[in-house]
Amino acid sequence: MKKRPGVPQSRFRMTPQRAEILRLLEGNTSHPSAEEIYRGVHRKFPRISFATVYNTLQSLFRKGELLEIRIDPKRSRFDPSTAPHAHLMCVKCGTIADVRRPAKLKPLGKPAGFKVLSCNVEFYGVCPACAGKAAPKEAAKCQKRTRK
Ligand SMILES: [Zn+2]
Ligand SMILES: [Zn+2]
Repeated sequence: MKKRPGVPQSRFRMTPQRAEILRLLEGNTSHPSAEEIYRGVHRKFPRISFATVYNTLQSLFRKGELLEIRIDPKRSRFDPSTAPHAHLMCVKCGTIADVRRPAKLKPLGKPAGFKVLSCNVEFYGVCPACAGKAAPKEAAKCQKRTRK
């Protein structure tokens, strides 16, 4: 596997708005949605549009500077931590926690000729705050949906 070297891109201009998006995401472990990031940037740059924020997030993602996480079926969430890790989402409030996972995960067998490029591990559960409010039997099991 080849590591992607940091390619200097002159096309990516560091505007104050982009710097603010990066500042908001730096060390942020709450996995904010584009809307939440927009609200944060909007406080400092009231004239910025949601499209600008969203496009900036997409270009940062393409540059490998953040992850776009699809664990939340309602909306994409963004993560400045690009090191391999898994996510655990509360099915009640949408809180996403980082969890450790083995660095190398391999499928147990795969169709001939297939090359595995990446792997995504998602867990669903109920956070302690919601567990206090909810009936315990509602806790969703990892990757298992029961029908009623
Ligand atoms: Zn919760
Ligand atoms: Zn994360």
